[in-house]
Amino acid sequence: MADCIFCRIGRGDVATTVVKRAPGLLAIRDVQPVAPRHVLVIPLEHVSAVRDAKGDAGIALLGRLLAFAAEVATDLGLDGGGYRIVTNTGKDGGQSVDHLHLHVLGGRRMTWPPG
Ligand code: AMP
Repeated sequence: MADCIFCRIGRGDVATTVVKRAPGLLAIRDVQPVAPRHVLVIPLEHVSAVRDAKGDAGIALLGRLLAFAAEVATDLGLDGGGYRIVTNTGKDGGQSVDHLHLHVLGGRRMTWPPG
């Protein structure tokens, strides 16, 4: 989508810090980190949120996205201490960018329940 910030990042139109690439996927550093390690994993194709990843292609995308997020966490050295992978969906979920993404958060002890 032309005006979607993550689509623009995916096209290389907006500067970002790329952490890792995989076919159709990108891991970038979050501009407003809420943990010592905070990386976003996004698909290059525009899918608005996890609820919109439907059918065989959507299910396959979600699997690749989650597996890629786990690889990123390993690369960040988070396997030992652990980490959290989150996807916010819609207004009540706290989603602020309407392009599917997973947050990989680590480097500190997470609390539960989330705010
Ligand atoms: P959410 O609120 O779950 O939709 O997460 C969106 C995330 O995208 C937030 O953590 C923002 O800090 C992050 N974000 C927004 N714009 C950018 C950008 N240009 N580069 C990297 N991260 C961004």
